[in-house]
Amino acid sequence: MNLILLGAPGAGKGTQAKRLEEAFSIIQLSTGDMLRAEVASGSDLGAEAKKIMEAGALVPDELIIGMISKRIDQDDCKDGFILDGFPRTTPQAEALGEMLEEKNLTLDHVLEIRTDDDAMVARITGRYTCAKCGAGYHDEFQKPAVEGVCDKCGGKEFSRRADDNEETVRSRLKAYHDQTSPIIAFYGDKGVCKAVDGMASIDDVTKQLKEAIGG
Ligand code: ADP
Ligand code: ADP
Ligand code: ZN
Repeated sequence: MNLILLGAPGAGKGTQAKRLEEAFSIIQLSTGDMLRAEVASGSDLGAEAKKIMEAGALVPDELIIGMISKRIDQDDCKDGFILDGFPRTTPQAEALGEMLEEKNLTLDHVLEIRTDDDAMVARITGRYTCAKCGAGYHDEFQKPAVEGVCDKCGGKEFSRRADDNEETVRSRLKAYHDQTSPIIAFYGDKGVCKAVDGMASIDDVTKQLKEAIGG
């Protein structure tokens, strides 16, 4: 099963993708995570992406499309994948369609996590992750059971993203509305898109997504 999770920055795509990954034995493909790995490795692609990401703008389509096409060919994607953060523009959505056709793959569901912009600044500025296993947390909304200790792996080091500050969030929300939200209509016209209420609790959003998928 191959899915797309759509939603504004902070909507809960990463949080929910990790839960669906476990529930359906499919793999999360986050273009944001891939780009951050490129930045950390010091590759040419990373160097090109770094400034753009820090400004909260979108990395050029060709770079992203090439990166995701290569990733989908890897063995761990053969049972299915959850696209988190891709596609983000109409050209990316069109390229994905062609890519899937060439690779003989289907797109089973496009799920939009719908949220209010006003709530996204608090979600993003309070976000942090375990440095060891990548588990996601929030200062207020999703604390680990024991303060300072990761629930999943026991790790004690956490990190915050360079672009998770209020100013950048505003640019990212604008980019979402200007460049990404048109693809909801693109998929809506094809009849594969379903929306869930992303303002509900994390558990409730998971429940809604599972119902939408039919599992
Ligand atoms: P995205 O991948 O869409 O940018 P995340 O999944 O990283 O969003 O979520 C952003 C932050 O908000 C994280 O710190 C996460 O713990 C928190 N969060 C996610 N979903 C919810 C929710 N339904 N209610 C409250 N906080 C949430
Ligand atoms: P969030 O969902 O919290 O906004 P992501 O981790 O998905 O953040 O993306 C972080 C940044 O990486 C984006 O602001 C953008 O600069 C870049 N990026 C990620 N995915 C894409 C994409 N599909 N197209 C263009 N830029 C992307
Ligand atoms: Zn951890």
